Amino acid sequence: MDKRFLKQLGLRKHNAGTMTGLESTNSSKYIKSFSPVDGELIGSVSKTTREEYDAVIAAAQEAFKTWRLLPAPKRGEIIRQYGEELRRMKDPLGRLVSYEMGKSLQEGWGEVQEMIDICDFAVGLSRQLYGLSMHSERPGHRMYEQWHPLGIVGVISAFNFPVAVWSWNAMIALVCGDVVVWKPSEKAPMCGVACQQLFQKVLQENEVPEGVCSLINGDYKVGEFLTKDERVALVSATGSIRMGKIVAATVGARLGKTLLELGGNNAIIVTPNADLDIVLTGALFGAVGTAGQRCTSTRRLIVHESIYDEVKQKLAKAYPQLRIGDPLDENNHVGPLIDTQAVDQYLSAIEAVEREGGNFLVEGGRLEGDAYSSGCYVKPCIAEVEHDFEIVHHETFAPILYLIKYSDLSEALAYNNEVPQGLSSAIMTNNLREAELFLSAAGSDCGIANVNIGTSGAEIGGAFGGEKETGGGRESGSDAWKAYMRRQTNTINYSETLPLAQGIKFDL
Ligand code: NAD
Repeated sequence: MDKRFLKQLGLRKHNAGTMTGLESTNSSKYIKSFSPVDGELIGSVSKTTREEYDAVIAAAQEAFKTWRLLPAPKRGEIIRQYGEELRRMKDPLGRLVSYEMGKSLQEGWGEVQEMIDICDFAVGLSRQLYGLSMHSERPGHRMYEQWHPLGIVGVISAFNFPVAVWSWNAMIALVCGDVVVWKPSEKAPMCGVACQQLFQKVLQENEVPEGVCSLINGDYKVGEFLTKDERVALVSATGSIRMGKIVAATVGARLGKTLLELGGNNAIIVTPNADLDIVLTGALFGAVGTAGQRCTSTRRLIVHESIYDEVKQKLAKAYPQLRIGDPLDENNHVGPLIDTQAVDQYLSAIEAVEREGGNFLVEGGRLEGDAYSSGCYVKPCIAEVEHDFEIVHHETFAPILYLIKYSDLSEALAYNNEVPQGLSSAIMTNNLREAELFLSAAGSDCGIANVNIGTSGAEIGGAFGGEKETGGGRESGSDAWKAYMRRQTNTINYSETLPLAQGIKFDL
C-alpha cells in the first residue's frame, strides 16, 4: 500500500504522544497502533506519564490567563487558519483516518470535511457569543447576562470518529476562550498526533501561548487523570455507555461538569406510506456504513406488516451486492471492524440472536483469506427478531441489522422508545400525520429525529447528542457552545438610591 500520507502528515515510527501545545515530549512507554485494514504496524505513540500530565495542565492553566482575554473574533481567526490547513491536508488526513480506523476513504475524507465545517462554524460563532438583556423590575437598573469561558476543557474521544469528535469540541471551546486537553482513543492515537501537529503549526505561526491546545495519550488510566482533576472544569467524553457512567460518577463526585456523548440503538420506522427506494438507501447506508461502527448506525428497522415482506426481499437482494474489503479501495463499500476484539463481540451477538430465537435473513460471519488477513473483516448481516429480545436492546458496534414487524404506529413508537439509549431515530413516510406524530412530544424520545432520512450521521449545524443512556450532552452546532461557557447575570444600578427587593426597608 502507498503510505506516503504518513510522511505528508509528519508521522514517524515513534511519535511523541504528549504535546503542551507547542512543545512535545516522548516518554518511555508506547502505544502501538496496528491498522485493521492489513494488520500492519502504523507507528507508535508515547504514553503520557503523570509528571507529563501535570506539566500539560500547568501550561494550560497559564495559557488560559491570556487566551480568555484575546477577543473572541481573534481566537476565531486562528481557527479559520486551522480550517485552511485542514483543507490543504484533507487528502492525507482522510487516508490516515481510513487506514487507522478502517472506515471507507470517502468517509475518512468526509470526517476531515466535518472538521473544516466546524472550523467555519466556530469562526462565525466567535462573533456571536450572545447573552440576553432583561428589563429590571427596579428603576435605574440594567440587567443582562454574559458568557465567560470555563477554563480547561478535557476531551476524551472514541475510536470511531478519531478526528471529527475532537474538532467538534475543541474548535467551539477554543473560540469560547477555553483551553483544551485532548486524550484520543488508544485505538487511533496516530490520528490524534496528526491533528495536533497540524494545529501546532498554526499556533506557532500566531505566537499563541504554550498550553492553549494540548494532547495526552494512553488508555482509560490517562483518561482518569482528567476526570479526577479538579483543575479540569469540563470533561467532554465520547464513547461507550459503560465509560460514560464511570466518567459521570467520577466528575460528578467533584461537582465538575460533563458533556457525555455515548452509545445509541437507533431505529427507522417504515410505515405503509414510505417511499421504499428511500428506505433501502437509508437503511443500507445506516446499517453497513463504517461497518456499523457509528453511534448513529441503524440497528433496528421497524417495518409495518403490510410491507414487511417487500422490504425484506429488497434487503436480501441488496446485501449480497456489498463489496467488503480494503476501505482505501474506493470500489469497496464496507471495511473492517476496529480490532479482533470487536469481531468477537459481533460473533457473540450473533450467537445471542440465535439463542433468543432470531432468524438470519442474511447470514453473518468472519471473513477469511488473503484480502482479510488482519482478521477484522466481517459480513454485514440481517436478523428477523422480536422487539424485546435482550440482545436487541444492547448496542453491538458492528453491522448487524434487526428486522422487527409492527401493526400500528403507536406500537412502532413504543418499540422505538423502549431501549435504554436515545440517540438517533427516523420515520420513513409521506404521510404528514405520521411524520408529525413521530416528531411530537408523544413521538420519538431521541435527541435526533428525522423524516425520510436515515439515522446515520448529522450535519454540524445542529446540536448533536442524545437522551437517556446516550448521556444528554449536545455538541457541535446550534447553541451547543453554551456547555463550554459559564453564564453570569449582571445587574447595574445607575440610580442614586438602592431600592431593596420585596420592598424591604433597611434605613439606618
Ligand atoms: P470506549 O468507551 O471504550 O472509549 C472511549 C474513550 O474513553 C477512550 O478514549 C477511552 O480511553 C476512554 N475511557 C474509557 N474508560 C474510561 C474511564 N474510566 N475514564 C476515563 N476515560 C475512559 O468507546 P469506544 O469503543 O472507543 O467507542 C465506541 C462507543 O462510542 C460506542 O458506544 C459509540 O456509540 C460511542 N460513540 C458515541 C458518539 C456520540 O456522539 N454519541 C460518537 C462516537 C462514538
